[in-house]
Amino acid sequence: RAKAAGRNRVAFFEALMHVEVQDRLHLERDLREALLLEQFHLHLQSQFNAEGTEIGGELLLRWQHPLRGAVSPLQFIPVAEDSGLIIELGNRVLRQACLALARLQKAGCLQSLSVNVSPRQFRRDDFVDGLRRIIFETGAPASFLILEVTEGLLIENWQDTIARMSELGAMGLRFSIDDFGTGYSSLAYLKKLPLYELKVDKSFVQDTPSDPNDTVIVEAVVSMAKHLNLRVVAEGVETQAQRDFLVAAGCDCLQGYLLARPGPLEDWLLKRGA
Ligand code: C2E
Ligand code: MG
Ligand code: MG
Ligand code: MG
Repeated sequence: RAKAAGRNRVAFFEALMHVEVQDRLHLERDLREALLLEQFHLHLQSQFNAEGTEIGGELLLRWQHPLRGAVSPLQFIPVAEDSGLIIELGNRVLRQACLALARLQKAGCLQSLSVNVSPRQFRRDDFVDGLRRIIFETGAPASFLILEVTEGLLIENWQDTIARMSELGAMGLRFSIDDFGTGYSSLAYLKKLPLYELKVDKSFVQDTPSDPNDTVIVEAVVSMAKHLNLRVVAEGVETQAQRDFLVAAGCDCLQGYLLARPGPLEDWLLKRGA
């Protein structure tokens, strides 16, 4: 009996795993199709300085599938990374970001645009040359493009990452560490890499100012960033109390639903006459 029950359980888990694998395969198939059918759109979420002036924005991918509805990037980005589709998808995002920057410049209302870059995308041998070509072809002012990378990128291939960042830095691009504090990397990279900013992860912002641990963590990150000459952005700012705390703590830049929700990039550009 026990044996039979064990067998049943194994069969049950195998069936579950099968369903999971199937789901993933279907998602990958739909992603491939979405690229062909242009189901991806870019949203922009504005970023503000301590005084409340808009100083830039982060571009966020949106996928609207006819049957699935809006699929979260938290769900499809990992699948795009594993399947390699992130290369094509990431290149499109970079091109659109550069086209937007060129339009902003022409309209005389340049602001920085931040783009999320996956490790797999960044590590491609042709990443630097590909981006150089996109910048050349679009005529984008490269110094207004900020690439957001995560700490995961910094764990391996040190020398290569430094070399790549330096090369892109020489073209004028800037780098931001996204979700800072949630990865497993050491702090040693902070002084070795040509970085421009740290983005304090929203999980640390969420419970400020009431949680004393998070409050101390945010203050420590801001203080460290100041000493390293890095800009600090707080993401996920949802309440006035959080905002007041972050400004008092010395955050240079704020991003979150309290200040602005992500909305279509195209609308944002048109509103600025770009
Ligand atoms: P992220 O880069 O850390 O982006 C911030 C996320 O927080 C976004 O989620 C944004 O919509 C959300 N957010 C903004 N303000 C608030 C707030 O006040 N409260 C809360 N709770 N959330 C807020 P989203 O758009 O779902 O994107 C999730 C993640 O997907 C991003 O996290 C980023 O890692 C990834 N992603 C999005 N677009 C791209 C892309 O073009 N390329 C790559 N490689 N990854 C992307
Ligand atoms: Mg980001
Ligand atoms: Mg983030
Ligand atoms: Mg985050």
